[in-house]
Amino acid sequence: MTLPLDSMQQLASACAACRRCGLADGRLQVVVGRGNPRARLLLIGEAPGAQEDLEGLPFVGRSGQLLDRLLHSAGIDSNRDTYICNVVKCRPPDNRKPSAAELAACRPWLEQQIALLDAPLVLLVGATALQGVLGIKGGITSLRGQWRPWQGRWLMPILHPSYLLRNPSERPGSPKALTLDDLRQVRERLAQLPAPL
Ligand code: SF4
Repeated sequence: MTLPLDSMQQLASACAACRRCGLADGRLQVVVGRGNPRARLLLIGEAPGAQEDLEGLPFVGRSGQLLDRLLHSAGIDSNRDTYICNVVKCRPPDNRKPSAAELAACRPWLEQQIALLDAPLVLLVGATALQGVLGIKGGITSLRGQWRPWQGRWLMPILHPSYLLRNPSERPGSPKALTLDDLRQVRERLAQLPAPL
């Protein structure tokens, strides 16, 4: 589905009125994205949680704060260097995973965001993003940290920060240490990109 939108602001306004799936009934607001709309790194997560629903911004709860800290540790500024969104823009009840039908209903918004941002690097944050974007169910632990070409961009799955909150060890080989390694790899790839025009 092609949407007649040519800016992130227009997209946000159109999203705010969306009632394409049942998640519209329980939301406080539609959570579209945050960060730099000219960033060359796009992060795509799962869905808004309670804090995101309240603030209208993705990844601002505990998971988001951990993500920001990990990005910072890897030398990536989330406000300057990234744009962050989710595969689903409204909060699922009780923070359950979005259904396949909800992922499909929200997909045109995500596709429009990806096209508008036109970032050369994309990170899929967690298993639901992996499923929502690539249709791959499971396998995030073996696929994380690996670049793959996708629609003229480079895409990498990484572990979701909510998983890292449940597994806080930082010893070598732990999920958190591996994620930091992945993000350092991302920073290096970002530094190799030609300067924007
Ligand atoms: S989750 Fe997506 S498709 Fe469903 S109502 Fe919200 S914006 Fe629309």
